[in-house]
Amino acid sequence: MFIINPHSGKGESLKIFNKQVKPILDQCNIVHELLITEHANHASQFIESHPNLGDSYFAVVTLSGDGLLYEVLNGFTTSLERESGSKKVPVYLGSHHFCLTSRLKLFVCTGIIPGGSGNGLFHSINHIYTKGHKSHNQLFDSIMHIIKGEPTHMDIVRFTTMHNKVHYSFLSFGWGLMADIDIESERLRFIGETRFSIWSIYRSLRPRKYSGTLSYLTVDHANDYIPPLDAPLNERWVTIKDEFYLVYASYQQFLNSTCKFAPDARLDDNTIYLLYINTNVTPWQLLKFLILLEDGSHIDLPYVNFIAVKSFRLEPDSKEDIMTIDGEQIACSSVQAEIEHKMASILLRSG
Ligand code: ADP
Ligand code: MG
Repeated sequence: MFIINPHSGKGESLKIFNKQVKPILDQCNIVHELLITEHANHASQFIESHPNLGDSYFAVVTLSGDGLLYEVLNGFTTSLERESGSKKVPVYLGSHHFCLTSRLKLFVCTGIIPGGSGNGLFHSINHIYTKGHKSHNQLFDSIMHIIKGEPTHMDIVRFTTMHNKVHYSFLSFGWGLMADIDIESERLRFIGETRFSIWSIYRSLRPRKYSGTLSYLTVDHANDYIPPLDAPLNERWVTIKDEFYLVYASYQQFLNSTCKFAPDARLDDNTIYLLYINTNVTPWQLLKFLILLEDGSHIDLPYVNFIAVKSFRLEPDSKEDIMTIDGEQIACSSVQAEIEHKMASILLRSG
């Protein structure tokens, strides 16, 4: 099944599907259905109201940016959370389940065709396929992943918040500078991905300070029990109470085509890459950090803290800040992130 957001990116997703994707699907005899979203949350509502989707479709493929896949993912996980309650038990549903180690499994494979202004997951998976070489035709590559790809395991991160809401994420979490860039640049949506670069320069030269407490558990303690968000943390957690310019986390290599956030990240390495910069740096150092993000060398800057973690907790002092998951804004509150190993799968061609 293909789900298309006609307003993503520069608003050309439907045209891309009809002119370039559909002819190849038809040629390859790929039977498919289409859902064209009419409003935000249309896709998640559709998935929540069709609990047996896994019996009818091999995969759900989005043609949009990362935001639509985030909706699809959370449509599936809302049903899974409801069915499993608070018990930590595995739930296997449908005919396409994968019996693995995480407590919940998505029963339908996902796929992604880039049509948004932020396509971090597509760039990350295609980079695995091209082994780091430049792609000559990204759209064609993405269609081939759908047609010839195999379901490939992917880690997902589960966020709990003080609003008692659970969010699942395949790409990123942001608070501070980079979250502001993501959301405030929305007003430049019509220029496509360049919106992030322009807003990066503007925001880094006028940085805001964010105070709060950041705690994390490194991957060295991979088997530790993770307490709930309202419970105290043990001495193996590192806690920093400070003023920050940014806290950002990702579990994929790329946040978009020009942002190599976590150079060593793999789809199923069971790791959250957590980055923070406190306010002891100048605006120029912040700008340098944003420029070096392009090739991944930002992690070598002495003022950039980049840590491989299994879980983190962030308690912002203000509830007014911008906070994002997968580039989508969520209500600002204390949050806790925990990696769910191999919980989802995505169509990916092997190299
Ligand atoms: P982009 O990368 O261009 O931002 P996304 O896939 O991230 O594209 O989608 C942006 C937002 O649009 C998401 O919040 C998604 O939920 C929302 N959305 C999905 N379908 C529609 C629609 N038909 N009209 C308006 N917004 C939509
Ligand atoms: Mg988006």
